[in-house]
Amino acid sequence: MREPSLPGTSLQRACRLLVAFCALHLSATLLYYLAGSALGPPRSPEPPPRRPPPANASQPLSRQTPPTDARPRPRPQPASPSPALPLPPGPCPEPSPLLVGALRVEFSQPVNLEEVARINPEVKDGGRFAPKDCKALQKVAIIIPFRNREEHLKYWLYYLHPILQRQQLDYGVYVINQDGEEEFNRAKLLNIGFTEALKEYDYDCFVFSDVDLIPMDDRNTYKCYSQPRHLSVSMDKFGFRLPYNQYFGGVSALSKEQFTKINGFPNNYWGWGGEDDDIYNRLVFKGMGISRPDAVIGKCRMIRHSRDRKNEPNPERFDRIAHTRETMGSDGLNSLSYKVLRTDKYPLYTKITVDIGSPNS
Ligand code: BGC
Repeated sequence: MREPSLPGTSLQRACRLLVAFCALHLSATLLYYLAGSALGPPRSPEPPPRRPPPANASQPLSRQTPPTDARPRPRPQPASPSPALPLPPGPCPEPSPLLVGALRVEFSQPVNLEEVARINPEVKDGGRFAPKDCKALQKVAIIIPFRNREEHLKYWLYYLHPILQRQQLDYGVYVINQDGEEEFNRAKLLNIGFTEALKEYDYDCFVFSDVDLIPMDDRNTYKCYSQPRHLSVSMDKFGFRLPYNQYFGGVSALSKEQFTKINGFPNNYWGWGGEDDDIYNRLVFKGMGISRPDAVIGKCRMIRHSRDRKNEPNPERFDRIAHTRETMGSDGLNSLSYKVLRTDKYPLYTKITVDIGSPNS
């Protein structure tokens, strides 16, 4: 006897068979994957796990690699970022936390420069320094007009290098040495210091200092302000007060902009006196005022000495000071001429020896 056949045409039968076959295949595949995930990883190839970066003490804790057994299953990752570059140091705090305030300054013991270099190991050749852990707020060139004052220079270097480092300045020391036997010309040497220092580094502030003046308080920062700064306001020589209100001698600080605005300093004051009064006039005529520390922070000592040869009081100074307004446009940076004879890089300073001509040249 023939088995009773299912109702329908042969096409319908074929369709039913196909559906049954598909259902069977689907359940078999499902079973296979269920079993696979319980027994181990799927066979399909996976990208190899990325090698973890080496644990780095400088990384923040949250970014360090977790311990191996807690490590999550590696997953394909987007291209890893390039390793973090060390951040540039932030600006130095103001005021510097290294300052100590009032200092004892005396000139009784002789100074040995090798010893000074040894105790200031961070000062680099030519008298350059920049703080390591923060970015100095200003790049300061210290310009010292000079001739035959080696002993005074030693005291200056002995006292000033530690102070300037505590002030966290990015600084360089330039001693501008007048060659020959002509009358001394302080202001012209200062113009040369400004010009030569800028050839070496992008200084933004210039401190002009006599070689025999030492600050007695490290809070008197050798930097520039929004107005030209007079730093030696309270000298022992003048009984720790200003000799007169317009006095701008000794140590002063001008930014590059302030200095160029007044066409630098006069070149034609030969011998002692008057050039600082001319500079004061220039600043006033260009609408600037003078900024000063108070009489305590501004205290300083001058090394006693007899008058230098070829630095006699200049008899023409009164007449010149009376004409600053007319002369400042044509006498200054724009008329400066000199010849560098040699440049010596010593461990604590750069010495630039110059031929500056003579009053009649
Ligand atoms: C001079 C200045 C000097 C001041 C203090 C003035 O008569 O002209 O150059 O700095 O005295 O000694």
